[in-house]
Amino acid sequence: MSCSKPLVDAFNRRISYLRLSVTDRCDLRCTYCMPEAMQFLPKKDVLSLEELHKLALGFIDRGITKIRLTGGEPLVRRDVIDLISALGRKLGDGLEELTLTTNGTQLGEFAGPIAAAGVKRINVSLDTMDGALFQQLSRRDRLAQVLQGIAAAKDAGLKVKINTVALKGLNEEEIPFLVEWAHSHGHDLTLIEVMPLGEVDGERVDHYLPLTAIRDRLEQRFTLEDSDFRTGGPSRYVTVKETGGRLGFITPLTNNFCAGCNRIRVTATGQLYACLGGSEMVDLRGPLRSDDPDGGLAAALDEAMRIKPERHHFEIREGAGPTQPRHMSVTGG
Ligand code: SAM
Ligand code: SF4
Repeated sequence: MSCSKPLVDAFNRRISYLRLSVTDRCDLRCTYCMPEAMQFLPKKDVLSLEELHKLALGFIDRGITKIRLTGGEPLVRRDVIDLISALGRKLGDGLEELTLTTNGTQLGEFAGPIAAAGVKRINVSLDTMDGALFQQLSRRDRLAQVLQGIAAAKDAGLKVKINTVALKGLNEEEIPFLVEWAHSHGHDLTLIEVMPLGEVDGERVDHYLPLTAIRDRLEQRFTLEDSDFRTGGPSRYVTVKETGGRLGFITPLTNNFCAGCNRIRVTATGQLYACLGGSEMVDLRGPLRSDDPDGGLAAALDEAMRIKPERHHFEIREGAGPTQPRHMSVTGG
């Protein structure tokens, strides 16, 4: 891409953060994320690692300074470490931060190479420390592997943030313990409200837990001090006085954070979604595979800035169904 006009949307928000999905596939089947019999995309529809690299370079040229690789599970994509290493070489040359969100199952193998590529911080999703509940939630028996992966990441010098989806009647009682565990190991922890994205087996609303309620409960046990700390994402942080650690809240349902949105998402098939909760989309794969990829991509990114909506309209209530038919694992969480 030759144009280097920065990405600014119709609401004058400067877009500097790309969440790039490298695969929709996953080795877990978290119940709130996807059904057990999830239909994955045909491989031919998914961008090659070279195409993902070219896209990422194009975004950096348009002023994207932070890239988060995600999925599905990014570390189940074969040779993904080659992409991570190639993007790592852009750090300090347009790119300020390269990071990823992972379920942690493959970190035992990949933590070292990820750190060697220049990644400093990663997010690891962990909803419970109870083996039986982990198996119930993810439909796989992998807790020990994930905990080994988190330890390997720490040993490799990566700063780990734990992401925990708060689930009523499931991990709700365990959340104070998860905070203590994470902080005692030097990890920040962020709590996330479950979002109505894609059909799953069962009703999400049954397990929806507003973080306002969790915060009230945590305040009975801990002193939460507001913090200005930001990572460029939607999380709002407090410091837990008793542990000294940071605790984040991502509250798409109880507290809308769209006014400060700086993000766009690209699926593994090259569709740019201007908002996680919206259907506004431009296709990048067509232009990327055309005779004029640079011109086509530049025009597609301009169009994305034109259509990015002001805010999402998530709604979670019985019978409402998903706000968007796309699963989080498709859009890239
Ligand atoms: N597989 C990786 C992982 O689990 O970290 C990356 C992709 S996953 C879709 C990214 C994050 O989205 C995870 O923290 C997961 O818990 C969260 N997530 C998935 N579905 C969600 C939903 N419906 N509502 C809220 N968070 C969700
Ligand atoms: Fe896989 Fe992540 Fe979805 Fe769980 S949340 S099924 S680990 S993509």
